[in-house]
Amino acid sequence: MLPVFDPNDNEAGLKLLEDLTNNACQIQQRVLEEILATNLHTEYLKSFLNGDSGKENFKNKVPIVNYEDIKPCIERIANGEPSSIISAQPITELLTSSGTSGGQPKIMPSTAEELERKTFFYNLLVPVMNKYVDGLDQGKAMYLLFIKPEISTPSGLMARPVLTSYYKSNNFRNRAFNRYNVYTSPDETILCSDSKQSMYCQLLCGLVQRDEVLRVGAIFASAFLRAIKFLEEYLKELCSNIRTGSVSDWITDPNCRNAVLSILSKPNSELADLIEDECSGKSWEGIIKKLWPRTKYIEVIVTGSMAQYIPTLEFYSGGLPLVSTMYGSSECYLGINFKPLSNPSDVSYTLLPNMAYFEFLPVDNNHKEVVPDVQCNGVGVTDRNGKEMVEAVDLVEVKLGHYYELIVTTFTGLYRYRVGDILMVTGFYNNAPQFRFVHRRNVVLSIDTDKTNEEDLLKAVTRAKVLLEPLGFLLTEYTSFADTASIPGHYVLFWELKMRGTNDLPELDPVIMEQCCSIVEESLDSVYRRCRKKDKSIGPLEVRVVTHGTFDALMDFCVSQGSSVNQYKTPRCIKSEEALKILDSRVVGRFSSNKTPFWEPFKIET
Ligand code: AMP
Repeated sequence: MLPVFDPNDNEAGLKLLEDLTNNACQIQQRVLEEILATNLHTEYLKSFLNGDSGKENFKNKVPIVNYEDIKPCIERIANGEPSSIISAQPITELLTSSGTSGGQPKIMPSTAEELERKTFFYNLLVPVMNKYVDGLDQGKAMYLLFIKPEISTPSGLMARPVLTSYYKSNNFRNRAFNRYNVYTSPDETILCSDSKQSMYCQLLCGLVQRDEVLRVGAIFASAFLRAIKFLEEYLKELCSNIRTGSVSDWITDPNCRNAVLSILSKPNSELADLIEDECSGKSWEGIIKKLWPRTKYIEVIVTGSMAQYIPTLEFYSGGLPLVSTMYGSSECYLGINFKPLSNPSDVSYTLLPNMAYFEFLPVDNNHKEVVPDVQCNGVGVTDRNGKEMVEAVDLVEVKLGHYYELIVTTFTGLYRYRVGDILMVTGFYNNAPQFRFVHRRNVVLSIDTDKTNEEDLLKAVTRAKVLLEPLGFLLTEYTSFADTASIPGHYVLFWELKMRGTNDLPELDPVIMEQCCSIVEESLDSVYRRCRKKDKSIGPLEVRVVTHGTFDALMDFCVSQGSSVNQYKTPRCIKSEEALKILDSRVVGRFSSNKTPFWEPFKIET
């Protein structure tokens, strides 16, 4: 049972957080008991537990699993078999994750009760923010929020991203009862399925209500920066709409249009002039503060792969704090940042003990053995095959400074499921540990919500190089880099090529090289291709060809930084500025994909 509290009552919210964190151990036990008692007779748990819902039996008998292990169960439900395969409560929808399996989004079960749990979680973010920032009820939030495509599965259940599901729920609409949750974007603009119309209308509403805006944000830093870029491109048109009190003809979604018109209400040339004036400077440095002068902070996730956007955000922000409030996933919501104004590099999340039953697999911290900046997977699970796996520990058993992989047992039918995130314990709040998000297991490249791992990258490169082999070219080495200097960012691959029989590299045919770029893109997973084609949140992939010997120079650098020569493996992703310089200084050709890859909403296999 979720505790009930009035979301407008800050004291009550903070007291609840004290209770949850003080009683983390007892709450976790109760959560496990409840999940097991409720779901003991599901097909999945029955096969392991044999009617015994004791914790020891659970830990001894139920395996720790990856998505591939439970995929058949979830797909059976998507194809119309009963929820009771995994969950006693009816599965009411499926959530498509940005993590993929076999190139397609993973799908996670969800229930009506889980939606309430998420709403409870969101309501607790408010008192934490109010504790540090005064007067948030005296104005509005300009949050740029978007829905993504959804599909209906053969079972009739919808499959859609977790935030799309939340924004479409009544719980989201009813947030307005909380006076701290008043947004400049009308719901109709957030729920518009055309992302360009949605973005335009939300920015227009944000500009018109600029005097009321006390905070701005988006979910991820990448989306917020895309909005700034969009603003730059459409500034003239936005100002013209404000000046005339009308909305451009291409805004054809009737709900969106009407909602915006009701905010625009009358021509306002004074405001249009003011905005144009603020934006007329040579540089857009500090533009957020100029356009929304009462803004107290920017709310965007800047931890994990989003940290790469901090410098650009700082450039536009004019010194405003960057606030990452929460850590969550399609599997379940996870943790809250109790010190929202802390520096991005110091952000920790406290997992709320009533969200799910959490376990932690200790992982090796190999940081000493590899060059941290260059090697992406410095922290890894001791055994990748799941064999000599170390024992998973409970939430309150984790140790300060140690690294763990997060395992969740949810109220929705996931049991001992590896989320794939590596976390480090930074401290304790009462009896609840706090975690720094270290990285996602095995992800080498990420620009937006895409998460490309080494294996996918290798597969894509292998397919592309087939084009070069008949011409006598060999790809001798490759690595990658997420270039976020431009908006949107894009993937860069560094390729060292040689001609069979010689080290000299003849001129490369740009048409063939561009095709190579396209084949890599076509071969990447569907989340990458959706970001590239539908969301336009990733730019064209680029291949930079480097001279012979470049990867030897990279190895020399890594060894000089402490890598062992014997164990050296080419890092498949570059993060260090110095390593990047070594590669970039040896580039002899740059080629980019000149077509967007194919993408369509995925289908459930029947
Ligand atoms: P999805 O399954 O698409 O909902 O993505 C969830 C994943 O996004 C998590 O497992 C994390 O890897 C990442 N993520 C979510 N919130 C944060 C955060 N605050 N900081 C860093 N990474 C995050």
